[in-house]
Amino acid sequence: MKLFDVYPINPINIIKGQGSLVYDDKGTAYLDLYGGHAVISIGHTNPHYVKRLEDQLHQIGFYSNSIEIPLQKQLAEKLGRVSGKEDYQLFLCNSGAEANENALKLASFYNGKKKIIAFKKAFHGRTSLAVAATDNPKIVAPVNETDNVVFLPWNDEAALEQAFKEHEVSSVIIEGIQGVGGIQVTAVNFLQKIRSLCDEHNAVFIADSVQCGYGRTGKFFSHDFAGVNADIYSMAKGMGNGFPVGGIIISPKIAPSYGMLGTTFGGNHLACAAGLAVLEVIEQDNLMQNAAEIGDYLITELKKFDQVKEVRGRGLMIGIDLPEELSNVKKDLLFKHHIFTGEAKPNVIRLLPALNLTKTYADRFLEAFDATLNNA
Ligand code: PMP
Repeated sequence: MKLFDVYPINPINIIKGQGSLVYDDKGTAYLDLYGGHAVISIGHTNPHYVKRLEDQLHQIGFYSNSIEIPLQKQLAEKLGRVSGKEDYQLFLCNSGAEANENALKLASFYNGKKKIIAFKKAFHGRTSLAVAATDNPKIVAPVNETDNVVFLPWNDEAALEQAFKEHEVSSVIIEGIQGVGGIQVTAVNFLQKIRSLCDEHNAVFIADSVQCGYGRTGKFFSHDFAGVNADIYSMAKGMGNGFPVGGIIISPKIAPSYGMLGTTFGGNHLACAAGLAVLEVIEQDNLMQNAAEIGDYLITELKKFDQVKEVRGRGLMIGIDLPEELSNVKKDLLFKHHIFTGEAKPNVIRLLPALNLTKTYADRFLEAFDATLNNA
């Protein structure tokens, strides 16, 4: 059988990882500033993570959600404490799309309305409601769902107000920083406006934190910079450091409208062990602070390059906007300097490294970036 061919693939076979480094089958070390697309939050093969998963695997890997799984409660408690959202309720699933799908569904259960407000260039996943709320020409929705989605320009308060006047809005779904859309930071005022309009119209504010959440920006949720609470936060990626773990946390206002959410794998013993290990390391090693500090340092240094059009982001979620003639930079970083980065169209380099990236590795990147720009 052949693989179904969906991804553009680099001809590199990564077989090992440690911290911020990964190694190919020839023994070449690469600096990983992509983190498998923001998934590696505490570094590859983190010893505490490996031990916790290994111990759990020896005990029991999986049973089912028909029994009590105390690890789920432990994860909820820990997540409540680390995120500061103690009074929310956690529903565990397996991916970002599934988290958003459930969030959007729950919003309709809550207020009985259908219309979803989403934003230009947003990415929320590939399941039916999530993809309908995604604005990406390469990822199109199945025929029937898009009717219920209104796409608005980014950070445009007037358009938002107008949409609330024109539609019976069930929910507003928004990333705190657009990731796939090119690292666009949502304005604090705009998030506050969403909060007040949702309150006024009994709509549900869904904070997609799949890429920008989990401490990456220096705060647990990047929406926290606005000082307002969303009704539902969706999470995945960094939540399991590579083990598939996703979830939503639901505010006390919405939680009682619980209905028909469920999953076979979500919240299994191994997933919970992975989730707990990640939070333990984030807390013990002060990784949110590290993300803020190293992120600030990188952003400041990157802004000094004349060739760079713009540097956007917060903490360790950084977009480097380059002019078109420098379209080879990402490839050069990988093949000449052995540094993995991400990209967003057109010509934005995305940095999404593990939250424990050191200054030494940040400097190694800056030197390589300099060399690449000056050869270009
Ligand atoms: N939301 C955002 C903001 C994302 O970046 C992604 C993945 N790129 C998703 C949702 C979907 O997550 P998953 O691929 O785990 O379904």
